[in-house]
Parts: sequence; C-alpha cells; structure tokens
Amino acid sequence: MNRWTELVSYDPCPGDPFKANNTPIYQTATFELESLDGVNQYDYTRSGNPTRTILQKQLAKLECGEYAFAFNSGMAALTAILGSLKQGDHIVASYDLYGGTHRLLSQRLIMRGISFTLVDTTDLSAIDAAFQPNTRLLFIETPSNPLLKITDIKKTSELAKQKGVLLVVDNTLLSPWLQQPLTLGADVVVHSATKHLSGHSDMMAGVVMMNDAELAKHIAFIQNAEGCALAPFECWLLLRGLKTLGLRIERQIDVTKKVAHYLKKHPKVKEIYYPGFNDHPGFDVQHQQAKGSGSIISFTTGSIEHSKKWIDAINLFTLSVSFGSLNSLISLPCAMSHASILESSLPKDLIRLSIGIEDADDLIMDLEQASCSQSSL
Ligand SMILES: *Cc1c(COP(=O)(O)O)cnc(C)c1O
Repeated sequence: MNRWTELVSYDPCPGDPFKANNTPIYQTATFELESLDGVNQYDYTRSGNPTRTILQKQLAKLECGEYAFAFNSGMAALTAILGSLKQGDHIVASYDLYGGTHRLLSQRLIMRGISFTLVDTTDLSAIDAAFQPNTRLLFIETPSNPLLKITDIKKTSELAKQKGVLLVVDNTLLSPWLQQPLTLGADVVVHSATKHLSGHSDMMAGVVMMNDAELAKHIAFIQNAEGCALAPFECWLLLRGLKTLGLRIERQIDVTKKVAHYLKKHPKVKEIYYPGFNDHPGFDVQHQQAKGSGSIISFTTGSIEHSKKWIDAINLFTLSVSFGSLNSLISLPCAMSHASILESSLPKDLIRLSIGIEDADDLIMDLEQASCSQSSL
C-alpha cells in the first residue's frame, strides 16, 4: 500500500460490533474477564487498552517496525528505553542533544549508575573512540536540534553492530514520513509524539519502536510495571493527528524551503543552519537517508541583543518551545528548550524557527518587518 493510503486506510476498530468508522475511545480502567482461567485480551488499561493497541499498530506500520509502544510523553518513552540499562552500563550520545534528554542522562540515569559520554556523532571516529567496554547503547538525534547536524544512520548502525551496541535514534525532528531509521539499521526509534506525529500542539505523547521481540517484551513490561503508557483519550487524539501527517509535513517543507532561502540572503543573518541547502555539510547524507529536510531553521544574528529584538518584534511566529505544530514558532534555544544544558556550547544568539502551514510570503514579510525594527541598534 502507498504510504498516503496507509495513513488513513486501516481497520479503525477490529471486532467492534457496531463497525464504527473511527476508533472509539475505550475510556475505561477495567475490562470484565471472560472467566477465571481463560485468556483475556484486556483486563486493566495500564497493561493494555484497545484504543492504544490500534494506535501502536498504526505507529509501528508508519515507522516500518514490528512493535511500537505509546507513552505519556517523549521523556517517558526515552526513560523506558535508556533506563532499561543496568547499573555500570555506559551510553554514548550526540553532544547536541535535546535539553530534556541531556537532563535525563546527567541528572537521573547517572544516579542509577548509568554513565554517558557525549560526542560529535557526525564523526564516526569520535563515536568509535568514545566506546568503552561497558558501552551498551549509542543514542543519536539526526538532524540534531537546534544545530541540524546530520549523523549517518547506516554507517553508525554498522559501527554499533560491530561493537554489539544498541543503536537508538530519536526521530522526532523528521517523523517517519521523512526518515525511517529502522530500515537503515537502527535497533530502536524514539519519538516525542508531542511534535509532528500529533501535529497540533494539543497533547503530549512518546513512542518507542523496534523489531526485536525480546526488547519489545521488555518495553511492554516497563510500560505496565512503571505505569507510563498513553491514556485512551490521548491515544485517540494521536490517531487523529496521524491521519494528516503527510499533508502537514509536505506543506511545512514547502513553506520552510521558501523561508530558508529568504533568510539565507538576509544581510542580518550571520550563520544559517538548514540541511536542505546543498552547501550544508550533511547535505549528501541527509539526501540519502531522508525524504526531506524538515521544518526547522536555525540562524544567528551576531549578538544576543539583535536576536532578542528580532524575536520581540515578530508577530506571526509564536514565542514558544517545541516544534512540529500547525503554527510557526520562534525560540531562543539557549534561554528556552536548551536552558537545562548548563554549559551549552550553542551560540547564545541562535534563533530557532519551527515552520507551520501558514503562507510563506506572510511569514517572510513578518521576518522582514521584525528584522527592520532592530535597525536602531
Ligand atoms: C520534545 C522532545 C523530546 C521530549 O518529548 P516530550 O514529549 O516533550 O516529553 C525528546 N526528544 C526530542 C528531539 C524532542 O524534540
């Protein structure tokens, strides 16, 4: 089936006696048992719920994986997979990680005896050098956020396999519509479904996907044992959002390209980070491993004062963390999403745009007027 068809054509409620055309919200904590000794598909929503089952099946299909597990946030999903390691284990991860993931590694997992090393994962030899005898997991984000560095998933997975290390890819930035790391050799894919997968900035969720049955069993166990699975209403919202994933992302990509080309020529933009430009250092790898460059653009202005003025004068972009919603957002990562990384190496004047589905010319006009308002500087 073509992926456009896949987004909307699936059985919304297998076995439903009323044949509803959309997945019902099974808003129940408990299920009546058939008998004391029979096998019951569902008994308690923490361990399983039909709305969640349908969602997880659809998520696995979109990511070309065998198994998907939905959690109540991206951080809960990350905690389930990264926290499945044992005391004494070691993680190698990209140094420009999402701030919350950095906090999880440096302030939570470390207390459980799980250590980590951060490296530039665009450099295979740096990854290789960071491996220790106790390294169990390699964690990458590509494109990274907010500097949009590209890590080669295939080559990284070959290295990880050689060393017997699990490769986990945070695929939040592009979504499975643009990049499917499991097909490139990754062992596990993680998403904050709060972003593109749900797409409307109206819910929080996380997903862990994989092909390995043993690992899937373990993640299902954690979901139940730790009580972090996604609730039925959120599952339903996410199912609804997924249906327009392709429409939203393709539209966002079109608008993003136009805004990126405008900014590239802007005299007040010092450095621009967007993997869709053919002079981006990761362009070739990105072009091979993904179907598009996403909807994030980062740029610097030369000073934090300039960046703050620009942000203050903007109208159509909402000053907000996060990305992947229908509305365009603007942020200053050092002061916002990445503030939890204490010694961040990010440029302090870095502005990040998350492009929505608005008209590109309207967004460009807004950026233009906002950049003029700082001429007093
Ligand atoms: C937002 C985000 C997370 C965390 O997800 P939440 O849903 O906010 O808990 C993890 N990784 C990346 C890349 C993100 O953007």
